[in-house]
Amino acid sequence: MHLYLHIPFCRQACHYCDFHFSTNISNKRAVVEAIASEIILRKDYLPKADIETIYFGGGTPSMLEEAELHLLLNTINKHFSIAGNAEISLEANPDDLEKEKLRQFYNAGINRLSIGIQSFHEPHLQFLNRVHSAYEGEHCVRTAQEIGINNISIDLIYAIPAPDHSILMQDMQKAFALDIAHISAYCLTIEPQTAFGSWLKKNKIKPIDEEYAAQQFEILVKTLADNGYEQYEISNFAREEHYSLHNSSYWKQRPYLGVGPSAHSYNGTSREYNVSNNARYVEAIQKQIIPATLETLSPADQTNEYLLTGLRTKWGVNKEKLEMLSGRSFFPAHQVDLEKLKEKNWIREDPENWYLTDMGKLFADRISSDLFID
Ligand code: SF4
Repeated sequence: MHLYLHIPFCRQACHYCDFHFSTNISNKRAVVEAIASEIILRKDYLPKADIETIYFGGGTPSMLEEAELHLLLNTINKHFSIAGNAEISLEANPDDLEKEKLRQFYNAGINRLSIGIQSFHEPHLQFLNRVHSAYEGEHCVRTAQEIGINNISIDLIYAIPAPDHSILMQDMQKAFALDIAHISAYCLTIEPQTAFGSWLKKNKIKPIDEEYAAQQFEILVKTLADNGYEQYEISNFAREEHYSLHNSSYWKQRPYLGVGPSAHSYNGTSREYNVSNNARYVEAIQKQIIPATLETLSPADQTNEYLLTGLRTKWGVNKEKLEMLSGRSFFPAHQVDLEKLKEKNWIREDPENWYLTDMGKLFADRISSDLFID
């Protein structure tokens, strides 16, 4: 079983970000206490089994004080059974990761860090409105490694406007020099409810050049492969099987509980979405109400979600599972489409599964949606 905690605070808003967070931290303690209460309220949401992964996401979970982190972990320990080898990840921003803070995380049981580096190039960090410097990005990785946290993932953003691909190459070279086990690489996208989105509307910035983004993706995939990173999901690359077990559980459709404002939960047949508002979240939890919207997933929803996430991974989608989820309607309806995709060399199969080819990975979302059922 898998547990996600959403810590909805950030020091400043990155220009591209449309996650749920607030830069007003005046009620941080109340939100953390409400998350602890929600853990108790929801302790029976998942089937009784050991928790295999815990993921502190956000927002910026590295803004948690030591006492706040302990409150959350102690509450989880009290109401769930945590597997001895559980992956316990925390998303962190470099500016938070002083030695003492890293030691606190390590001593509390955090055994994997996902660090929001995004780039090691100062002008790119400023363009994105990241709060940290390039030096802090590099320094925090080295300090975490000194303390003993070696399971480190970094986020990189590609397709940031630049005259050529040299900065992307430098970013990757820096990651290799730092001996990073896992890299999540995301294409810069411009979402409407962000600073970039508003500037795009006012013609203050240009849209992302799709051709440039595709070139950067190809360079990224090739360079990472040449340096020992396996692309086990379209945006995720690991050395020596240092996969994110938590994120892999989403892609493999495993049930998970998400607590905190805006967190989602999934039990196999339905999803629940917590309210994306910190004050309303705290108010509801204080009244012992879980402020969540329930969405029951039809066989078509379940099949389509499986296609969308599963095809992006190296494990592909299992033919029997597709048949089972769709009520045995998938293959009769899609046999011709699958054959066409195979002829284009966008997908390949073995007796059990379908997978995207390297070329198919460039069109992953389009291929999935072409295979959706109603
Ligand atoms: S730190 Fe992360 S969550 Fe916060 S605004 Fe930046 S990208 Fe978004």
